[in-house]
Amino acid sequence: MHQALEAAFVRASADLSARVDRDPLRFPKRYAMRAAPDGTAAAERLADVEIAAVYASQLAFGRVDLFGPVLERLFAEMDAVGGPAVWCKGCASGQRDSGDPLVYRWFSRRDFVALGVALARLQAAEGLAAAFTTLEAGISRLRALAPLAAGGPHFATWFATPSGGSACKRWCMFLRWMVRPGAPDLGVWTQLAPATLTMPVDTHVLRIAQLTGLTARKTADWKTAVEITDRLRGYAPEDPTRFDFALAHLGISSGCTGQKSTSCEACSLRLVCKIWL
Ligand code: SF4
Repeated sequence: MHQALEAAFVRASADLSARVDRDPLRFPKRYAMRAAPDGTAAAERLADVEIAAVYASQLAFGRVDLFGPVLERLFAEMDAVGGPAVWCKGCASGQRDSGDPLVYRWFSRRDFVALGVALARLQAAEGLAAAFTTLEAGISRLRALAPLAAGGPHFATWFATPSGGSACKRWCMFLRWMVRPGAPDLGVWTQLAPATLTMPVDTHVLRIAQLTGLTARKTADWKTAVEITDRLRGYAPEDPTRFDFALAHLGISSGCTGQKSTSCEACSLRLVCKIWL
């Protein structure tokens, strides 16, 4: 299994930029790589990266070709006023309540603006990095600062926590981006060790984990995320989520459907996949 995982990792690394272009990580990466010709302070640029990572991760469900254009419009609007951190400050002072409706599935502008209020409040207090001493602590702190009544009917779902049983896939992915120093992630936060991260488990990762014996559990909940992470920790104790990008992109970029298909022919996990055993 370890060899197959490493092979998948190497394969994903070989065409990393093409995969990142199809991944929500591309949005915060833009801000992380952006030079500061105007002399913007590093702390302000870090705030932009943090906020871009929150929005990109929270919208990362469903098809990337559907949520990607909504994020493009949102970040264009943010850039037009000076960037994500400035945009969120405007949410807190009621300046962002009208404009592009920014609808994606059951979320819309009112949710994005309410999240902006929470993020601006947190940035003005201890900051995101200080709040995320653990996944549970960070999400709970953001929820405590969020104007819940101002968001739409599904707004509160953004703040589901591990203690409530949620797999917290999008927040786990957010932390992976922020904490892991290895490619393709950003590694801009140092308050957490990569060894403490939990696998972001979505339908792709759950299916592949079931097919390769990483879990026998049926649902993508917190217990499943912990079980898969513990198994991967056996192969990479210091960095168990290093395999996440490769596993997720078997579905996102390489066409794994969980059925025998032409995608399997080039799949690095073929020798350990139940479809083929
Ligand atoms: S062998 Fe096929 S079904 Fe199994 S993980 Fe790879 S692409 Fe998916």
